[in-house]
Amino acid sequence: MSTTGTMTPSTKHDVGAMNPLKNLTGKAYVAALMEQVKAKNPAEPEFHQAVEEVVDSLSLVLDRHPEYRAAHIIERLIEAERVILFRVPWVDDNGEMQVNRGFRIEMNSAIGPYKGGLRFHPSVNLGILKFLAFEQVLKNSLTTLPMGGGKGGTDFDPKGKSDNEVMHFCQSFMTELFRHIGPDTDVPAGDIGVGGRELGFLFGQYKRIRNEFTGVLTGKGRNWGGSLIRPEATGYGCVYFAVEMLAGRGETLKGKTCLVSGSGNVSQYTVEKINDLGGKVVTLSDSNGFIFDPAGIDATKLAFVMDLKNKRRGRIEEYAKKFPGSTYTPVNPALGYNPMWDVKAECAFPSATQNEINVTDAKNLLKNGCMLVSEGANMPTTLDGVKLFLDAKILYGPAKAANAGGVAVSGLEMSQNSMRYSWTREEVDAKLHQIMKSIYKAASDAAIEYGTPGNLVNGANIAGFIKVADAMMDQGAV
Ligand code: NDP
Repeated sequence: MSTTGTMTPSTKHDVGAMNPLKNLTGKAYVAALMEQVKAKNPAEPEFHQAVEEVVDSLSLVLDRHPEYRAAHIIERLIEAERVILFRVPWVDDNGEMQVNRGFRIEMNSAIGPYKGGLRFHPSVNLGILKFLAFEQVLKNSLTTLPMGGGKGGTDFDPKGKSDNEVMHFCQSFMTELFRHIGPDTDVPAGDIGVGGRELGFLFGQYKRIRNEFTGVLTGKGRNWGGSLIRPEATGYGCVYFAVEMLAGRGETLKGKTCLVSGSGNVSQYTVEKINDLGGKVVTLSDSNGFIFDPAGIDATKLAFVMDLKNKRRGRIEEYAKKFPGSTYTPVNPALGYNPMWDVKAECAFPSATQNEINVTDAKNLLKNGCMLVSEGANMPTTLDGVKLFLDAKILYGPAKAANAGGVAVSGLEMSQNSMRYSWTREEVDAKLHQIMKSIYKAASDAAIEYGTPGNLVNGANIAGFIKVADAMMDQGAV
């Protein structure tokens, strides 16, 4: 069936009658669509937020390309191809039975196998994973590599669990997940709470059940199929993206004071790359609080953080005890804002979690002269915060562009696995760097083409969307 105009008049009439969005354009279309999204996906505020930001940008494209409207591309894009929800039973070190909930959202496979991380965190629910999977579709498209979008995870909290408990959990999780994934179907990776340890346990169980050694996960260990630079990729990529934004204004990172939040995988390699390029990072955080070190977090201090977080699995508070001159501030939810974003700096790299910069935080950053925000975390800024950044015309790199380096190197890991060959560190880093430059250019060019120069939110959404939309148009009613 053609999607663009060969329907019979009666079918046309039916579609119009069933679809109140049909004759709306611009803001009216966005408002009506959002009403439908909220009614159909209740209690999923993060998903609503992610869709609203994207659809707001895409209304520029839809008004120019009615063929996408006629084919209902947006309505299909916001509906997952498949949602898998499963029980994960496991036995803790005291012999007690525990039950968690496992998820995999297979959002869109128009341009390649589903691809996206697994998040292990007590806050995980369907709405959070749907927002992440939706963002992932456009992000993966931006990387220029052939990857669809997905996301998964569980409400299991690895914090405070023994290695043995984490292993038993991962084995049980994979005992269900294995039947839904595969190197040409769906290729998960890490995310919050899923690093090298968890990926090892997950891969081991997949291999055992399937009796095959394939590139079914990315972020694997170096000597069992992993790619060099994958651990570094999201952080390095986010800084490369910042460098591109700065270059557009004839600036560099050299001598600039930077705020980094979080202290996990993305944060650690963001700090490493900022240091390499002559910037100075003065903050890090975890879910309990943040540290401020006016002297800067140099390589020695970063090595301490890596050992603390990746091996001893301790809290960031220990940093302030170890390094004189630095301070620790615990989280205070009563404040309604995060004082970390009130530290004076030129650049901010939010790298912990969604909605960690609210409108007050955004105001504080701007008040203190912040001129660049490059998002390592997914959707770390609320919609009203994003609006402030765009209105102030600072350099603002939205997550789906700025943090795409991680999944890009995951894509390179898939290629290396398929070839049964490994590229060197320098080769992978050079490819990552090139991909981040192309993402910046694609987003920047699309922003200009659609009449909003410098607005990389619009640019990234539009550039990511067009490739997926065209693939869906080619593939018919899928
Ligand atoms: P990690 O688990 O390695 O680190 C997460 C960090 O964020 C920890 O310091 C954690 O503190 C903190 N954090 C997590 N949840 C919260 C919260 N609710 N409030 C405050 N702090 C919190 O995860 P990653 O570094 O891998 O991921 C960080 C972000 O980057 C996420 O948004 C993720 O989706 C995104 N991302 C990651 C990619 C990757 O390749 N890993 C790729 C692209 C995006 P604590 O230890 O106390 O929980």
